[in-house]
Amino acid sequence: MTRSARPLRARIHLDAIRHNYRRAKSLAPRSRALAVVKANAYGHGAIAVARALADEADGFALACVEEALELRESGIQGPMLLLEGVFSPDEIALVERAGLAMVVHCREQLDWVLNAHPSRRLDCWIKLDTGMHRVGFSPSEFAEVNARLAACPHVGERVAMTHFARADELDHPYTSAQIEAFEQALNGARIGRSLANSAAVFAWPQAHGDWTRPGIMLYGVSPFAGAGSNASMDAGDLRPAMTLESALIAVRDLDAGESVGYGGRFVCERPTRVGVAAIGYADGYPRHACDGTPIAVGGRLTRLIGRVSMDMITLDLTGFDEARPGDPVELWGRTVPAGAVAEASDTIAYQLFTGIGRRVPLLHEDA
Ligand SMILES: *Cc1c(COP(=O)(O)O)cnc(C)c1O
Repeated sequence: MTRSARPLRARIHLDAIRHNYRRAKSLAPRSRALAVVKANAYGHGAIAVARALADEADGFALACVEEALELRESGIQGPMLLLEGVFSPDEIALVERAGLAMVVHCREQLDWVLNAHPSRRLDCWIKLDTGMHRVGFSPSEFAEVNARLAACPHVGERVAMTHFARADELDHPYTSAQIEAFEQALNGARIGRSLANSAAVFAWPQAHGDWTRPGIMLYGVSPFAGAGSNASMDAGDLRPAMTLESALIAVRDLDAGESVGYGGRFVCERPTRVGVAAIGYADGYPRHACDGTPIAVGGRLTRLIGRVSMDMITLDLTGFDEARPGDPVELWGRTVPAGAVAEASDTIAYQLFTGIGRRVPLLHEDA
């Protein structure tokens, strides 16, 4: 990557990702854990993240075959699961060649697997819809689907899986109902089980099963941020894996009554020192961020004021008497939790991370 003069960059702390993976393992000590690195490892750089975890991850989970092949081609070994399986029967040849496991969530995929002529066995994860109601076989179909795959000579390992809709809501009975529907469908079948996303790794130990699938927690964000629930859980001891940082490019003093930026959304109530930082919505900073969204200048917390522009944002530097162009600005990271920025922007950290713009260089650092 050529270094640009623009001060904006996303520093990725690979040691933090390893720490968070170990945390997932220690919370579910009897389960293996697939590190979820779909969507370019939630914007953190899938190849670098997979390499950082290569010595200890039990495997990786990806959204599609292209993502898995990218990792295989960069030398990553070990189990890899396609969370949505294949999108056409031709992809099964790629799955076979790359030694991937795939989700089977519908009749079409089931037929493609059963009618394939692979030269090695295909590992299949049978997805059950226990309440998310997006994809998956209904619990009543499990016995038949499982039996057909079990009877197929070119099917290898089988795992039963499901995905939770509300595992971050600790005071809601929905997750318990999903777990119960899953176990009822399996009816004691001797088959591997996989249910838990990050929230369930923390909050639903009865759902740890044989394989967990931690995603957001690897990147240092509490899965309970923004759950809109009264009950919360301390996801402390996760380490933020991304520091999105830029710098001040201008500092100016405005009078009471003057407004800042497009639409004059922020009007100064008193004489206000305003800083301008080099980042905007084209870089992935959320345009919906409201006045008051936390931001740090030189390690000290302050707030966004005024609308986010394409390439710039404005922030409150009142009381920052020493602030100068060039001073470092943290958009999120160790001082400003990404979850807090997400909340102030009516979204979730997942979307912030995966929305990082192409012109933001990722700098991978390892301790
Ligand atoms: C993305 C994904 C996960 C990871 O979820 P987090 O909330 O990020 O932990 C787990 N399982 C499936 C099926 C997924 O698609």
